[in-house]
Amino acid sequence: ITVLGIETSCDETAAAVVTDGRQVRSSVVASQTELHRKYGGVVPEIASRAHIENIYPVIAEAMSQAEVGKDDIDAVAIANQPGLTIALVVGVTAAKTLSFMWGKPLVAINHLHAHLQSALLNEERIDLPAVALVVSGGHTSLYDCESPLDLTLLGSTIDDAAGEAFDKVATILKLPYPGGPSIEKLARTGDAKAIRFPRSMLGRDSLDFSFSGLKTAVLYHCRGQDMKGADRVDEMDEREIADIAASFQAAVIDVLVRKTKRAAGRIGARTVLLGGGVAANGTLREAMEAMCRRHRPPLRLLVAPKQYCTDNAVMVASLAYHKIKAGLLADLTLEPSSTG
Ligand code: ATP
Ligand code: MG
Ligand code: FE
Repeated sequence: ITVLGIETSCDETAAAVVTDGRQVRSSVVASQTELHRKYGGVVPEIASRAHIENIYPVIAEAMSQAEVGKDDIDAVAIANQPGLTIALVVGVTAAKTLSFMWGKPLVAINHLHAHLQSALLNEERIDLPAVALVVSGGHTSLYDCESPLDLTLLGSTIDDAAGEAFDKVATILKLPYPGGPSIEKLARTGDAKAIRFPRSMLGRDSLDFSFSGLKTAVLYHCRGQDMKGADRVDEMDEREIADIAASFQAAVIDVLVRKTKRAAGRIGARTVLLGGGVAANGTLREAMEAMCRRHRPPLRLLVAPKQYCTDNAVMVASLAYHKIKAGLLADLTLEPSSTG
């Protein structure tokens, strides 16, 4: 089964051709990072317009790189939720059009479930139950995973997402956009124990997350408790900024790993799945691996390959294969939804 996957939920226009959920024939991603850089974040209207410009060339390029024509495609899959509605609608409209024109089934994909599918790309089978953590620009969500198609939400962020915290703290530290990769790079030269930033655990039993207090703590550290002091970041040397970046990153990772461990204990997990843009972070990957190794019984960590952590369409086409096999098809009444 060969699927054309399409992804337009945020600021990446992506298309991919994947056979049987695992054989990646092509993956094309048109990133809009440059367009949004000067605003320090994704501007929905600009994202939507860029998707409209990019969607056709990106799909054509994915088909051409895979050396397939419409007759080789068995289904068209689209991430229709969650995301920015005016961005999602571009991909949904394109997918519905192709599905109708080609007479091929349409498959609706949840973008967050697709992020987790990235962790399963190279797996024959997994030991269940699994606890699954999506850490991305807009979400920090823990799931009980019974199968790639059967995810029950255990907890999520009550304020900022993990990736959002990286991006906001990078702005405070005047590091280049997007913030996640900038902080990771600088943190490598810093001391993660230099500053003891708060770790919000939200009570003993909670599987929810909160990162806004941590972000505020970084802000106070740079501006003083009353926020009346001068912004010290301009006077800091690179070493001091690196220490803040490393200490902040350690606090985020600490919470992510501890909550995942807590969830694993709760559901008796045998496997941990990790996906989403922040899962590209090497220090997070190592810390999660260490927790899984030490756990009794040991947990198996499945983490998305780095190039499939941030938004892409391979994860969409791959998950679609499982939905098709389960008979879960959409139709031309499909609409985008901002929530997921
Ligand atoms: P969502 O999936 O919730 O709709 P999104 O699609 O915008 O949001 P992704 O593309 O999955 O998010 O991930 C982007 C986020 O990942 C950004 O916040 C970015 O800063 C963060 N990120 C990317 N690489 C790294 C890294 N190496 N370390 C930490 N964070 C990172
Ligand atoms: Mg993005
Ligand atoms: Fe995403």
